[in-house]
Amino acid sequence: MEDERLVSGMLHEDDRTLDTSLRPHTLREYVGQEAVKESLSIYIQASLGRHEPLDHILLYGPPGLGKTTLASIVAAEMGQNIRVTSGPAIEKPGDLAAMLSNLNEGDVLFIDEIHRLSRAVEEVLYPAMEDFAIDIMVGKGPTARSLRIPVPRFTLIGATTRFGMLSAPLRDRFGIIYRLEMYTPEELSRIVTRSAGLLKVRQAEPDGMLEIARRSRGTPRIANRMLRRARDYADVRNDGILSAKMADEALNMNGVDQLGLDKTDRNMLATMMDKFAGGPVGLDTLAATTGEDAATIESVYEPYLMQLGFIMKTPRGRVCTQAAWRYMQREMPGAQDAKPGEEQTSMEF
Ligand code: ADP
Repeated sequence: MEDERLVSGMLHEDDRTLDTSLRPHTLREYVGQEAVKESLSIYIQASLGRHEPLDHILLYGPPGLGKTTLASIVAAEMGQNIRVTSGPAIEKPGDLAAMLSNLNEGDVLFIDEIHRLSRAVEEVLYPAMEDFAIDIMVGKGPTARSLRIPVPRFTLIGATTRFGMLSAPLRDRFGIIYRLEMYTPEELSRIVTRSAGLLKVRQAEPDGMLEIARRSRGTPRIANRMLRRARDYADVRNDGILSAKMADEALNMNGVDQLGLDKTDRNMLATMMDKFAGGPVGLDTLAATTGEDAATIESVYEPYLMQLGFIMKTPRGRVCTQAAWRYMQREMPGAQDAKPGEEQTSMEF
């Protein structure tokens, strides 16, 4: 199951405390995403100078990359409070209307998984985002009329792992849209080094931190989770000294390979190769044959496999690349015809 995988960016139940205790509180502490940070700090300074709320912000990218963390940092840097909720938690238009009316001037409202808001709830959000007002219906039948009431001026920060699922009218109402990128091993290594201090790792060796960073799929949440496992392992096996060897052994023991892939990833690649000759294969077919959820494949597995250059999306479906065949130690169909030395050329196209 996705929510049990060590290498999943999705929030596990036992991550909650870890996530909160390791969360950075300022833009300065927030590692990486340099372009986003630079642009955000300009907007923050400008709106503080004008004494106006910040424009509405949409953050998107795979789970665990720091969207929630960034939202609370924005609120803190603006000197405002944050209210946190999520798309599925807001069931009725009235729930959102009540939430908006209860905000204080300048508050940040964070809606995670914003693509999961119902249409009816979204309708309440439009005038709130544009005019800081909500329209409520009073009366019934022929005497019913719509009454516009103001709500405090606020900043909405929406987060989504599925940008494409957002309705166009909602998307268009965000003044600022950022896509969060996967982190480099060097950035992740800075993140786990800081976390190791907070988690009281007895001795966090730089090579040990880098080993965890390299295998955590560009995702801070995964890196922190791996760090905790490796810390326990090092405590028992190596007197708390978290070296590269300890990190390697702990991760191997958990079925995570050198690239950060686990059984589920390898199974998906193997299915594509064995059943569909490497593709193209459609998302729904892939979901049906692997028994995984299509949305999870698209927003969780694929981004990293694409980042590694193992999978390509084509108009006819997903295709395994030559690098993926090599990694899986299988012969790519047609590759046996290639003469030695040709591989380099074909890789370039
Ligand atoms: P998302 O909302 O995108 O799923 P979170 O904001 O909950 O991700 O991040 C998961 C955890 O990863 C956080 O609790 C935090 O400890 C860590 N984290 C995320 N981004 C960063 C970052 N840029 N620098 C340091 N730690 C980070």
